[in-house]
Amino acid sequence: MRLSRLLPAVLLVAAWAALASAQPRPVQGEPLSRQYTSEETRSAPTHLALATSASGELYVGNLEGVLRFNGVDWDLTSLPGRSAARSLALGADGRIYVGGYDTFGRLVPDGEGGHRYEELLDAAGLAGDSRLLGFVQEVVATAEGVYFRAEDRLVLLPYDGAGKPKNWPLDSEVRSFYPANGQLYSRVHGKGLCRFEDGRFELLPGGEQFAKVPLPGLLARGDGLLLIARSGLFRANEKGITRIPGEASDLLAGERSYVFQELADASVVIGTLDGKLIRVDAGYQLREQLDLGVFSVIALNVDREGGLWVATEGNLVRLSLPSAWSFLGAKQGITGSPNDFEWHDGALWLATSQGVQRMTADETGQPRTEALGWTEYEAYSLHSTDAGLLAGVREGLLVLDPGASQPRTLYTHPNHGVYALQPSRHDPDLMFAVTGTELLLLSRARGRWELAHVVALEDISLSGLEEGAPGELWMGDTRGPVQRWQLDLPTGEVTRREVFDDSRGLVVDAQFGTSVYQLDGRIHAISRDAGFRFDGERFVADDAPPFTLGDRRNELQVAETPLGAYAYTTRELWHRAPGESTWNAVYPGGRGLAGYSYLRVNRDGVLRIATWSGLLQFNPLESAPAPQPLQLAMESVLARSEKGETRALPLRSGDEPVKVPPGHSLSMRFSMVSMESGAEFRYLLHGVTPGWSNWADRDLFIRALPAGDYALEVQGRTGTGRQPAGITYRFQVQPRWYEQLWVLGLVATALLAGGLVVALWLVRQRTERFLEANRRLEARIAERTHELEDVNRKLAELATEDALTGVANRRALENGLRREWYRCLDQRRPLSVLMIDVDHFKAYNDAHGHLEGDVQLKGIAQRLNQQHDPQRELLARYGGEEFALLLPGVHPAEAVRRAEQIRAAIASSDAGMTVSIGVAGFVPDVQVEPDSLLRRADAALYGAKRAGRNRVQADAG
Ligand code: GH3
Ligand code: MG
Ligand code: MG
Repeated sequence: MRLSRLLPAVLLVAAWAALASAQPRPVQGEPLSRQYTSEETRSAPTHLALATSASGELYVGNLEGVLRFNGVDWDLTSLPGRSAARSLALGADGRIYVGGYDTFGRLVPDGEGGHRYEELLDAAGLAGDSRLLGFVQEVVATAEGVYFRAEDRLVLLPYDGAGKPKNWPLDSEVRSFYPANGQLYSRVHGKGLCRFEDGRFELLPGGEQFAKVPLPGLLARGDGLLLIARSGLFRANEKGITRIPGEASDLLAGERSYVFQELADASVVIGTLDGKLIRVDAGYQLREQLDLGVFSVIALNVDREGGLWVATEGNLVRLSLPSAWSFLGAKQGITGSPNDFEWHDGALWLATSQGVQRMTADETGQPRTEALGWTEYEAYSLHSTDAGLLAGVREGLLVLDPGASQPRTLYTHPNHGVYALQPSRHDPDLMFAVTGTELLLLSRARGRWELAHVVALEDISLSGLEEGAPGELWMGDTRGPVQRWQLDLPTGEVTRREVFDDSRGLVVDAQFGTSVYQLDGRIHAISRDAGFRFDGERFVADDAPPFTLGDRRNELQVAETPLGAYAYTTRELWHRAPGESTWNAVYPGGRGLAGYSYLRVNRDGVLRIATWSGLLQFNPLESAPAPQPLQLAMESVLARSEKGETRALPLRSGDEPVKVPPGHSLSMRFSMVSMESGAEFRYLLHGVTPGWSNWADRDLFIRALPAGDYALEVQGRTGTGRQPAGITYRFQVQPRWYEQLWVLGLVATALLAGGLVVALWLVRQRTERFLEANRRLEARIAERTHELEDVNRKLAELATEDALTGVANRRALENGLRREWYRCLDQRRPLSVLMIDVDHFKAYNDAHGHLEGDVQLKGIAQRLNQQHDPQRELLARYGGEEFALLLPGVHPAEAVRRAEQIRAAIASSDAGMTVSIGVAGFVPDVQVEPDSLLRRADAALYGAKRAGRNRVQADAG
């Protein structure tokens, strides 16, 4: 072929390529997702329908009934005849309507926080054979009522009191129904797309196009309709129906689309029978194609927090879509673990343990990865510049010059690769590159990078390189103190070298060495768990964020980017927006996803983070819908008496605090419907807890409190760190009868009278003259004393505190044991107990006397008291020099660990006492008496004594 004939084609290709490279497609990762397995839902893995209630709860039509999910717990409501729940819809009345096999109905509250199924066949006026519905395949909620579409009948049930039910027989050619614009539409096979009017099917203009074409979706768009057909996308209005041209329609024409869902950003997701999801944006451009696996997509739904739920024949998945966050991993073709990544020339480049890879998006937006043979081994670092892409590999340093197809070698080293590339902060034509033993200075001249100088690092093992002023380099060293070098940049000569160690304020832990980072123009250093800041002369302790944010301080890395500053450890990520001073924790995929090892914003403005499993991407241009506000509330508040009787208390305290009867413990459960998995709660009980509790699950148990007014503050947060407004629950513990004023008055009067009588008796005793009277008095005194003793005994019986040590007494222990036993029995949680006995206490008493012994006992009680959490656990004096510690919900193995801690704490105190501890624990059983727990701990204690004392022995089981 002659060149002149080839040229136009070449030009065309070149023009197209220029166009394509001018507007490269972003490499879209897969949305962050979470799968819900049968293990979690405790039901069959086949899901058939989805709906979200107004409060944000998710309802799933399952093979075994209707599942409800509040973000934490799943529960199942069965249908008559154990029918599958085939279809679901949220009615305009806020109720969830359900279609099953030969049944349809709705969920109504059961008064105990759950739901029951209410069948509506009678309400729909169905009798005789018309009740044989087969599968109710669709439930369609409209403003007037709910339509139930059975195999050969359509039933309309108006909302309560809003009219009479209706039903129409259906021809077998009638396919799906679609509500839109206050109308009901339907596709009739052989006829086409129709409007449904009271039993009649009226063909729409142009509707005959769908006589034979399945139509998975129809929705209102502008002044017309958007149709999602097996053959593509169509627009319908009074004038007719036209196909929407473009790649989205073309792609759909080759897929078995089945269901659709509109998202908050007006994009539409289409699910196929082959397990694919296709997203088309509001302008009908193809956005994403995702392959979920082999199962057919049966239902789609969005929750109130922007999550897309996908129900398939074999699983249930929640995707964050649309979202600024996405993920690239092995599924997108990345091989090896990514060390560095960069956007260059319309593609995403990766330096991984398997070499350099280049990732682009194909016509449908699917990522495509190509491995480049740039290295025999690993690739470490990448940096894109206008003068080409620099790549550090095991063999040295390469640069892909602009327009070149193969890289040029800038530097080779026999055994150290180029681990890091770092542009100068001060000179755009200067770049630093780091090998294991050298620092390379690269300079750009006439649009090309060249190696300028090689500086030997001598004995430094570099951990962080920061350029303070031009040529002033700060270096952390994994084996030693921080160093500051001054380079003469034109010659590459080191003109000054300083060491910053303990003598200059930087306390170096030799085992950890040091690392450095720069933030807001200041140099910071870390050694082990200590942080330092350079004040111009020396290092001073760093007691401000980001250093103080997390607990893996030796791992902290800080990056200043155009999107703000980021600080991270392997487990946590924080962000400080540009111009702001506060740091906020970021949880891209909920609390589970972590392993952050390297973070940078690439040249395309996208933040990318290397993690344990792949690459996280944050694209600031991708808008995510603002989630609806969260609501925090009390789900239940139960008061339980010492006898174990429970009663439900109001869930909200209004102007008046909620009244709690005396001696009642409180079991509370908080609720916050959030699908962002990993919701947590914390609380503050004013005047009782020293501060906010740790973040924990939604159950709180409060032991019986003394009479008085209390305020409990509760806060919640979701798995992605969103926090709704907190709530305050006010309650008032009522006084016991003997704490009431009139009883106390009576007791005081009795004591006074008693005292008076005694005084009288003493006076009169001296005078023989009053002997007779005296005898009479004696009788009265005996009577009074008896009365007083009675009152005292009653008081003592009701007291729950041990007088000597101040911890709970045995009575309180017995009550507590019974209470916790039944609570743990209900919740199928273990209950453990520690029996703690002071060693050789008799000998101590004998040597020092009983009073000294008492002082010792008090001291031991105090130490034990510090070793337990009074909110959740119960420490009691069991008798003599024996104590018991009740640990609800604590597994016996954990209880042994606690016992060991306690034993060690006592043994190491200066009192010179030791204790032996017996441990028992198990999940309570209805067949067993609560006391058996104490008996088994006691037997174990006996074992510990026999084995030599000052030790912990676990119950043999
Ligand atoms: P071990 O437990 O190691 O076998 O030896 P022990 O000497 O501690 O054992 P034992 O149970 O025989 O003795 C317990 C002693 O504790 C008996 C009693 O003198 C002393 N004791 C019990 N209650 C009190 C108390 O309230 N105050 C004082 N000071 N001593 C008490
Ligand atoms: Mg004893
Ligand atoms: Mg003892």
